[in-house]
Amino acid sequence: MLPVDAFIGWFLRLKSRQYLAFEDMGRIDPAPAPERPVHLYLHVPFCARLCPYCSFHRVRYEEGPARAYFSALREEIRLYHRLGYRFSDVYVGGGMPTIMMDELLETIALLKGLSAPGNISVETNPDRLEPDMLAALADAGVRRVSVGVQTFDDGILRLIDRYDKYGSGARIEERIRAAQGIVQTLNVDMIYNFPVQTLAQLEADLEVLNRLKPDQITFYPLMISDATLSEMTGIMGRHSLRRERRYYETITRSLAAEYRPGSAWCFSRSSGMIDEYIVTHDEYVGAGSGAFGLVGGAIYANTFSIPDYIRTVGEGRLPLKARKLFSSKELARYTFLMDLFGLKMDRAAFRRKFGRDVWRALWMECLFFTLIGALSTDGRALTVTERGRYIWVIMMREFFIGVDNFRDQSRKNIA
Ligand code: SF4
Repeated sequence: MLPVDAFIGWFLRLKSRQYLAFEDMGRIDPAPAPERPVHLYLHVPFCARLCPYCSFHRVRYEEGPARAYFSALREEIRLYHRLGYRFSDVYVGGGMPTIMMDELLETIALLKGLSAPGNISVETNPDRLEPDMLAALADAGVRRVSVGVQTFDDGILRLIDRYDKYGSGARIEERIRAAQGIVQTLNVDMIYNFPVQTLAQLEADLEVLNRLKPDQITFYPLMISDATLSEMTGIMGRHSLRRERRYYETITRSLAAEYRPGSAWCFSRSSGMIDEYIVTHDEYVGAGSGAFGLVGGAIYANTFSIPDYIRTVGEGRLPLKARKLFSSKELARYTFLMDLFGLKMDRAAFRRKFGRDVWRALWMECLFFTLIGALSTDGRALTVTERGRYIWVIMMREFFIGVDNFRDQSRKNIA
């Protein structure tokens, strides 16, 4: 690991804490509906079994609570609609959104009736990757399905408790092969830099991917929140960032012939929606327990308590529980981080939003990343260089670990 990588990681971890230090807790009014349609994130927190490394907001699936939850989710969507919110695109994440297909399809039908969103993306797991299910999603208007694979290595799948749940690497490969061509974009989510993962194991994963050639591959570095650190260390040994850059470069080299980077860690064979909707959308609403939204210059978080969520929505109120108002400088920095994670920032768009050129508003950031060779500038755009792509991986890794820590803390508060 280069010293500059370590410094940027440390600095971003510090900053993420400040960014996610929510100030208002308790009863919060929603922001006025924006003039333009915004992105909608829907959270479905139920999983059949819980994975040890996961810091998402998720609970074990039980049919009764899950049905009540989906019903509350639809009510929350209606509440936003009554307030004048309209949705341009929808991302359904979890947990496992496809755990109750009838409820999911009813929710999508409601959204289409209210807002006619353009793109709908849904996460799923390999055991649900059946052609019939994908066809039902495609018929309902879902254009993109993202499947969480993580690795094809049987040894690592066993260690992270996914072998029994989702089958061997060979079985997952078969399922993905059978699933291709049904929805417009099939994305495969992978993880690299598990503590036990050798370079040969990573290269074997890349070989499978290059054989399968899914429409899109998202390759996350392993991200461990403070709360899962000791369990993960017990299972797999100490997590080290020393090899992360080398593994990332192995991935980008291996995928370069067939894929174009849509973000620092998402590689696509054609253009399309990516997992990080927060990169491609300035404003978004989060619906569901534990979901985040960014509207009108503030981040909002819904309650992490599922009973509280169902009760509040049932009383006709939005389940907003925490808010952090950004200053203009903070919002500019957030935009800088997110836009450039998508590898390019339009200078004119930044000027329209903040009234100043990015080099004037954030001259220190622009200068620093230019001097270390991570950024290039021309009259129209800032562009992340090939060398800079890994720098943005580090920054997003730290940002997401900050979000995970906030989730862990919120769940602890409920307990
Ligand atoms: S990794 Fe996916 S399936 Fe496993 S617990 Fe987390 S959300 Fe659930």
